[in-house]
Amino acid sequence: MRLRFAPSPTGSLHIGGLRTALFNFLISSKLGGSLILRIEDTDRKRYQAGAIDSLINSLTWSGITFNEGPHIGGPFGSYIQSERLSLYRNAIEQLLESNAAYRDYASPGHPVKTCDQHLHKPHVVRFKLPQSDTHFTDTVYGDITFPSSKHPQMGFTNDPILLKSDGFPTYHLASVVDDTHMQISHVLRGEEWLSSMPIHLALYKALEHPPPNFAHLPLLINPDGSKLSKRSGDVSVDTYQANQWEPEALINFTALMGWNALRTADPTNPSDFLSIQSLIDRFDLRDVPHRRAAMFTGKLQFLNKQHLGKKVEQGDKGVLDRFRAMLDLHLFVDGFQFDDEYLLHVLILIKDRINNLSEAAQMGDYFFVEPLYNSLDAKLAYDSTTKDNIDAVLKAVSNALHNLQDWQTDTLNSHLKHQQKLLNLKTNEFMMPLRWALTGKKMGPSIAPTMQLLGKERTLHRLLK
Ligand code: GLU
Repeated sequence: MRLRFAPSPTGSLHIGGLRTALFNFLISSKLGGSLILRIEDTDRKRYQAGAIDSLINSLTWSGITFNEGPHIGGPFGSYIQSERLSLYRNAIEQLLESNAAYRDYASPGHPVKTCDQHLHKPHVVRFKLPQSDTHFTDTVYGDITFPSSKHPQMGFTNDPILLKSDGFPTYHLASVVDDTHMQISHVLRGEEWLSSMPIHLALYKALEHPPPNFAHLPLLINPDGSKLSKRSGDVSVDTYQANQWEPEALINFTALMGWNALRTADPTNPSDFLSIQSLIDRFDLRDVPHRRAAMFTGKLQFLNKQHLGKKVEQGDKGVLDRFRAMLDLHLFVDGFQFDDEYLLHVLILIKDRINNLSEAAQMGDYFFVEPLYNSLDAKLAYDSTTKDNIDAVLKAVSNALHNLQDWQTDTLNSHLKHQQKLLNLKTNEFMMPLRWALTGKKMGPSIAPTMQLLGKERTLHRLLK
């Protein structure tokens, strides 16, 4: 089984493209096939410099891996269409010889000339599209018939172009030639290519090659049914990367879009939290409905929190490095002052309060800088204390901890409980002043582990200030 993902380098990878790549990846991983990355850059007008690198970067970031492609090589290279022009030329020769295609010298304003002496004049090569019905079975859409009157070309007087006057093939020819040459057995691509099937199937026939199996994926749309756009959230994968979403979460989210088996109305259904391996194990094309799938980004928040939490529990080095870099950006502190263990402890304490790693620096700022007691947050925290007992609580606790050697959560906890009892205060009345003094926030992780991580010196300093 050989599958391919064939993006055009016209910009950064779109979430719809990511989904197509992902479904190809899930199937090939599940069934032990090979996945090929092929760059379709024959439309030179839409080509964007840097787009190939950007596509590969986004795919690599997302965790989708390939068996062959421009970045890893393979036996059927080049994997970039503009480097395969001779293959398309050969196919054109074959089609011209068998009379399945013809040269067209007409350009707007010029009469059609077809005699051989014009061979070297600018021309295109067109495919003689047979006027017959097209029948085929699509793995997602089922049996499909395109009556010949419904050929996409109907309404045009022209047959489809295979070779443009700049010597580059059109998408149709290049796609069919490459899927044949690269021995692709299954084509899984977006619904927008369904209407090209009459041309593609007729081309396979004319080139005397059996076609691969086809499955078309229903489009992603905005919840109101319009074409997917920024209204529904970010649509380009590099923006998700830049905004610190976990690739595992974006993959999980993308897989669920239009995947019937797991779609539930509940945006926070724990059974939707799936690793890439469980996605592979469960994926089945038969679960993909014909219906177009709408993107609801609320679910991404939930999934991201789960995936981030799991990575923190595993001590993921990549998360720690990203967190370190963010300290610079958000708090203007040099993240390299802090070792992995410290950063990990901070994240363990705050992970349940954040959906996205980008919130971590602000949420846990007091672990890196002195609390800003003038900030709005700190004022709210101050207002939620019963003010008149603040001094008593801070003094009692700092006195009690002053000589403590064993600066551990459990020991700290028993000291805190004891002091609370002595002061005869309710938990809230006792804890809020401590939280305000130690963190400048109204909410956060428990006080004892916060004290342990801050360490004795910083804790006493903040209580005494
Ligand atoms: N280059 C096409 C695209 O960008 C690929 C279509 C196909 O998979 O056949 O969507």
